[in-house]
Amino acid sequence: MKVQKVGSRGYVFTFEDPYKLNIYVINGEEHIFICDTGFGSDSVNAILDYLRTLDIHSKPFIVFNSHADYDHVWGNHVFKESEIIAHELSPEIFQKEGEEILEIYGEHKRGEVILTPPNRLFKEKIVFKIEGVEFYHSPGHTLESSSCFDHKEKVLFVGDNIESPFPYINFLNLENYCDSLREYLSRNAKVIISGHDEVMFDESLILKNLQYLETIQSKKIDRKNFTKQHRGIHFQNTSRLAELLKEKGDKNAAQRYYREALEILKEAEASTEIEAEIKEMEKIIADLA
Ligand SMILES: [Zn+2]
Repeated sequence: MKVQKVGSRGYVFTFEDPYKLNIYVINGEEHIFICDTGFGSDSVNAILDYLRTLDIHSKPFIVFNSHADYDHVWGNHVFKESEIIAHELSPEIFQKEGEEILEIYGEHKRGEVILTPPNRLFKEKIVFKIEGVEFYHSPGHTLESSSCFDHKEKVLFVGDNIESPFPYINFLNLENYCDSLREYLSRNAKVIISGHDEVMFDESLILKNLQYLETIQSKKIDRKNFTKQHRGIHFQNTSRLAELLKEKGDKNAAQRYYREALEILKEAEASTEIEAEIKEMEKIIADLA
C-alpha cells in the first residue's frame, strides 16, 4: 500500500493487489472521512493502522461509497457501527447482485468481506458544512455514481467516473454522464482522485473522457491510434450500449453499436472463440434488421 498526502488534510491510499485502487481519506476537524472501502477488511485495516501512527484514529469515522461496485464497498463491514453514506439506489444494488458478485469475483477478496449496505442515503447530496465536505450524486460510470468534494482543499474524488484511457459505460444516459463531467470542470479542483488512476493535478483526463463520451454518442470513434487496451474497453462499451439499446427496443441505435463492436472484434487476433463471437454478433445484427 502506498500513501500519498494531498493538501493539508487528505491522504490517498493506493493498493496494487489484485489491481490498482485508491481510497481517499480526509482528516476533518471532527470526523475522519473515508471514501470507498476497497477489497475487504485487509484494505481497511491497513489504512486504520496507518491512521493510528498519525494519532488521528480516534475521531468518529464517516464512510462514503462512490458507487456499489465491489472494489469500492467490500470493506464496509469494518465500519458497520459508523455512518456509511451513499446514493439512495445503492442498497438495492447490494441486494440484487451483492452475493452473486462476491462469488464471481471471490478471488479479489482481501481479508474478510461481509456485505454491508450503506446506512445513510442521499438523493442529491449530503454536505458537512463546517467540515467543508460534500458528497453528491454524479451519475456516470453507473447510475448511482457519486463524488466527494473537499471545499477547503479543492480536492475532488470521482470514483470510477473518470478512468484512463476511457471510462467503463454501464448505463444508457450518456448525456447525464457528460453533464457530470462538465460539472467536475466547474469545480476548479486542484487535485482529482479517481478509483484506479494516479492522483491528478490537472483536468486533462476529464476533458479526454468527456470527448470520448461526446463522440461515442454521435459517431464512430476513430480507432487509428488505439492500443489493445483502448480496443478492449471500447469494445466493452459499444457492446454494452448495444445490449442496453436492444433491451430498450431501439433497434437502429443498437445495430450501430453492434456494428462498431463487430469491427473491433474483427481486428482482434483470430481464434476460435473470436470466430464464434463474430458469428454470434453477426446473427444479432441480422435479427435486428
Ligand atoms: Zn472500480
